[in-house]
Amino acid sequence: MSFEYLTRKNTFIKKYEYGENIVGFGEYVLRFASSCPLGCLYCYLRDVNKQKHEPKIYTNFEMLRKELIELCGPVNGKRNLYLNAGENTDSLVFEPQAGIIKFLDEFISEFKPDLMIELRTKTDNIPSLRSMVNKHKFIISFSLSPQSVIDKYEPGTASLEKRLDAMRECQTMGYSVGFRFEPIINSGQLIKEYKKILEISDEKLLFKNPEKIHSIGLSCIRWTKGLMKKIREEGSVDGSELLLDEFVLCPDKKFRYFRVIRTNIYRRILSLLHDFVKLDNPADKSDKIFLSTEPAYIWQDCGLDF
Ligand code: SF4
Repeated sequence: MSFEYLTRKNTFIKKYEYGENIVGFGEYVLRFASSCPLGCLYCYLRDVNKQKHEPKIYTNFEMLRKELIELCGPVNGKRNLYLNAGENTDSLVFEPQAGIIKFLDEFISEFKPDLMIELRTKTDNIPSLRSMVNKHKFIISFSLSPQSVIDKYEPGTASLEKRLDAMRECQTMGYSVGFRFEPIINSGQLIKEYKKILEISDEKLLFKNPEKIHSIGLSCIRWTKGLMKKIREEGSVDGSELLLDEFVLCPDKKFRYFRVIRTNIYRRILSLLHDFVKLDNPADKSDKIFLSTEPAYIWQDCGLDF
């Protein structure tokens, strides 16, 4: 994957801004790259960064080290921190050249912070995870969509089969994995297609060890106004199809499917999940399953605690 190296001028770490009315988890975001080369058609980065340039990796890790020490080091340390390294780019697409994963692993070995790090990916680029020392401090999350969605909207990513194989391998290596069903795109085939994902996951033994499933997140597609405009201007058939539904403007300034549509989608997928994933006990189950960037009333509609 081609990219340039650059020095980060502003901070690597930022508190995640969930937006008005959205249920939050207090996580932090690690921004180690300027954009993502995988080119998903619905990606919000296409609006934010315009993606005109080659991706740049920020490699002044000494500054990142200082920020991490300030955030969670032994002196000022905050407890129970969650750092998401897959919000501004794919976490694994630049590895091993970027070296960020190795840096984080070494930082954890040195400082033993009360910190969990999520690496989120749509690739199967996992070889650099094999030699990590602190596997218990990383959650390897895979964004999963039906293959029909991948074919249309996620051009540079790994196939569904390859992602699921990589997930199982991560579990075998000793990692806990995260299922990230997002973005969920409304279609007549939706439930059939998500059932298929769960069936394949089951065949690949991904549900065999529930303790190796860190969490399962669901999120329907959401749009910024700018990205909707951009897609309309581009005029591609696939882009126009994505915007065929009606969308409602939410208090966080994102456009989403109407409440009843989202709730119906979540409830039906949750019901499927409960058929496949036998988590240890009901309390554990509700902790592990969450909605991403949704307001409290949607959680309540779906019978989920937050
Ligand atoms: S993999 Fe994620 S960050 Fe990269 S283009 Fe796709 S949605 Fe955006």
